[in-house]
Amino acid sequence: MSNKTAIVTGGTRGIGKAITLELAKSGYNVAFNYSKSDDLAKELVKEIEGLGVKAMAKKADVSNFESAKTMVKEVKDEFGQIDILVNNAGITRDKLLALMKEDDWDDVININLKSVYNFSKAVIMTMIKQKSGNILNITSVSGIAGVAGQANYSASKAGMIGFTKALAKEVGKAKINVNAIACGFVETDMTSELPEEYKQKMIDMTALKRFGTTDDVAKTAMFMLSDGAKYITGQVLSIDGGLAL
Ligand code: NAP
Repeated sequence: MSNKTAIVTGGTRGIGKAITLELAKSGYNVAFNYSKSDDLAKELVKEIEGLGVKAMAKKADVSNFESAKTMVKEVKDEFGQIDILVNNAGITRDKLLALMKEDDWDDVININLKSVYNFSKAVIMTMIKQKSGNILNITSVSGIAGVAGQANYSASKAGMIGFTKALAKEVGKAKINVNAIACGFVETDMTSELPEEYKQKMIDMTALKRFGTTDDVAKTAMFMLSDGAKYITGQVLSIDGGLAL
């Protein structure tokens, strides 16, 4: 059994789940966390183990630094090393700023952005000592272009982009790659509740005339985490079907 190990935040559903399974298929032991989906987590652990690698699921809020530190320590103790971190967990609390409550701002910034500090900080010394590692941050076109009604989300996702570039410069000499992928609209629970009319408008705005699938994103993520992308760092790759063109 290989010791290659990956941590994915928010692994139970959507994009995180698809990336978790692709990593497992590629021979990585995978640890993931989640906030409430206990049954989905149990099923995913079985699915990962069925692929012949080890799995670990942790119910822990990504915005809590102590939880991140504890999870990373447990992963290291159990699996021996940490090669990949995918900062994926995220939420939306869309509202016009005039109606946005302080909690809507704090929750989105803490879960989407502080989590990136929490997990990256918790793994970075291990990766520096190993002189290898790969951190991939899942950001959004909303963080590049800004979307009305998403001041909190756009700010969190733009923050991830600045973080990606700064950290890439800090840890490149330790052979650690840090990149981001900026998703457009992807079919997940996060987008399922958008009004049909709005969805169609967004589809019309893409060059490829469709929403992305979690498989589209996971395959791109695997490329960014592969040896084929070894000389790519500090970059933000848009995977949006041409939405932001
Ligand atoms: P999703 O289907 O809503 O899944 C979110 C995942 O994050 C779930 O596993 C959820 O766990 C976990 N999570 C949420 N809050 C958490 C917390 N406080 N602590 C730990 N885990 C938490 O979302 P998605 O659409 O796959 O999005 C994944 C990432 O892609 C997000 O960062 C999102 O901003 C980004 N993105 C998505 C789209 C899109 O169109 N879908 C576009 C651009 C960017 P539970 O199952 O326990 O709730």
